Amino acid sequence: MSATIEKPDVRPAQADVLIVGNGALGLFLARELSAAGAGSVVVVGPADRSSGGSQAAGAMMGCFAEATSESLRTQPARTRFELGVAAHERWPAVLAALQEHAPGGRPLLTAPETHVVLNSIGAELDNVNLAAIINALTEYGKPWQECDPHDIPGFNPRTDTRALRAILLPEEGAVDARAVLTALQADLLASGVTLLDASVRTLLGDSDSVTGAELDDGHVIEAGKVVVAAGALSESVLKTLIPDLDLVPTFAGLGFAMIARRTGGEPFRSVVRTPNRGFACGLHVVPQADGTEYYGATNRLVDEVGSTTWMADVRFLAQYSMQQLDERAASHEVVRWLAGNRPVTLDGFPLIGWLPRAGLYLMSGTYRDGFHCAPLLAAHVANELQGKPGLIDPIFQPTRRPVATRTVEGSIQEYVEHNLAGWFETGAQAAPQLTTRQIADYYRNMATQFYERVGTDYALGPDILWYAQGSLVGGRRVARYLRRLQPAAAGTGAL
Ligand SMILES: Cc1cc2nc3c(=O)[nH]c(=O)nc-3n(C[C@H](O)[C@H](O)[C@H](O)COP(=O)(O)OP(=O)(O)OC[C@H]3O[C@@H](n4cnc5c(N)ncnc54)[C@H](O)[C@@H]3O)c2cc1C
Repeated sequence: MSATIEKPDVRPAQADVLIVGNGALGLFLARELSAAGAGSVVVVGPADRSSGGSQAAGAMMGCFAEATSESLRTQPARTRFELGVAAHERWPAVLAALQEHAPGGRPLLTAPETHVVLNSIGAELDNVNLAAIINALTEYGKPWQECDPHDIPGFNPRTDTRALRAILLPEEGAVDARAVLTALQADLLASGVTLLDASVRTLLGDSDSVTGAELDDGHVIEAGKVVVAAGALSESVLKTLIPDLDLVPTFAGLGFAMIARRTGGEPFRSVVRTPNRGFACGLHVVPQADGTEYYGATNRLVDEVGSTTWMADVRFLAQYSMQQLDERAASHEVVRWLAGNRPVTLDGFPLIGWLPRAGLYLMSGTYRDGFHCAPLLAAHVANELQGKPGLIDPIFQPTRRPVATRTVEGSIQEYVEHNLAGWFETGAQAAPQLTTRQIADYYRNMATQFYERVGTDYALGPDILWYAQGSLVGGRRVARYLRRLQPAAAGTGAL
């Protein structure tokens, strides 16, 4: 991929639009701007996209398969959900246009459909979220059907983790994320966009406006507009110009996945996945363009963006892929390990909009479906940059107050359910006399104590609560932000 990046001696000193970040969002935006003839466009980002989310993504084109009991419960959540529904419609045209640049001419769309399985190893949350998926499909009039788990090509779990039920979503599949990024890059170079293999050290500007950026080696690019699309690092890039910027905080959701070559048995021909559960996007397998299979993915909120992979995560993914997806996976050959960071916002909603410096725009916070939403977000941002009407709801403005979608009681209950799902999936052991209700009470107490200590009535999603509970750094950051929101709130203790 790096062979296609501009050489240092042709680096431009000016751009009409400078995009900081070369993940799916940055590249799709560059493509929209170039198609609209919006002047010179420069994209800056390291060629290996180290620690970025897009290069590690399973790139499931899922919106209905991602639905949970929260998705349609409130109007803001529904608005967020419909972003995915609208994004989905853009993909056929995007893929048709990019296919000519696909590596080896292989199809970018690697799976046309998804099977969601309800298996015997999860917890109540699986049932709840499968019901939410079916309700959403029904409400939006999308096709789906029950199917016999035995008929799913490639699906061959162990008996004790077999699927009890499965549904087919014939209109939701997956693309090969890495092949799409390569094709996008080729498409951009062909249309005259400059891609620089570098990092931005600091944004440049004054208290009124942004004027450009300085790269790691001191090279300066002046720009009329700067779009920060640096994934989980976006906030730190912005703070180089506006140290006291009041953004909804973003955390890094570090995910691990594996790409494996099958050594026997029938290959998967669709995405096969569980519903979202255990603070993550469910266990899934995604066929890749070259015939390999992507097994994913873990999700841990961490203090720093990085690419660490823990043994526990390797075990999690390998063991559960063998148990829940295909027994033969034990003898597959792992050809690539992937680690990347999802940009996770405190309220779970994307950060899309102008910032308080003229010409400065933020495009991030897309969490677990940013690859899927990228073409729509790119079209929206390209419009906004050109002074045309936007395409999405203004609810995603980055300097908003955090969007509220739950009560504290609901947040605690959700946290308990995710922990129970994790508890049973990982086969955690408790003393035989300990009941499920007692395990639930243990988690309920932990969450209740967190809310009492912080003294907030802003209710967090289960993953943020898990992080704030488990990391002192994370807990303090969340607590500081929530106390700033509610200065009058009196918690019972420090964090
Ligand atoms: C394991 C995993 C599985 C996922 N699965 C799916 C899925 O199935 N479907 C889906 O839709 N989404 C999925 N996602 C989420 C999705 O990948 C993200 O929401 C999306 O890719 C974010 O795109 P982005 O362009 O905003 O950020 P990124 O992809 O993180 O790109 C940001 C880029 O900016 C660069 N950068 C950082 N700092 C600087 C700097 N200072 N200067 C210049 N460049 C910089 C980074 O190197 C990176 O290349 C998954 C994510 C992970 C981690």
